[in-house]
Amino acid sequence: MIENQFKIKRIKVTDEEKREIALYYLERHSIPVDLDAYLKMEIFEDFLEMKCVKCDYSQDFDLYVISDLYELGDDPYPVLSCDKCGHKRKSGYLVPLEIYNSMKK
Ligand SMILES: [Zn+2]
Repeated sequence: MIENQFKIKRIKVTDEEKREIALYYLERHSIPVDLDAYLKMEIFEDFLEMKCVKCDYSQDFDLYVISDLYELGDDPYPVLSCDKCGHKRKSGYLVPLEIYNSMKK
């Protein structure tokens, strides 16, 4: 499991984000949602911080997206192309922060 291998950032979903999620849901489903009750709930999302080995750009990614991609591939850790310095592995790529730190030692 990816969450046991790398340090996960658990970030509280803001009221504004919850409102967007609720409105998105309401637009697509005809099931009534108790918006006030939903906004009072504490919701968290998990993120993995990835850092580029070439340009040091870092970005937080939704853990579920990363974990699906990771489990489909053969890499020993998640690897993503870097949006900042290039889209190819040759020019730059993002790895989990811990991997980045061990590479830069
Ligand atoms: Zn980069």
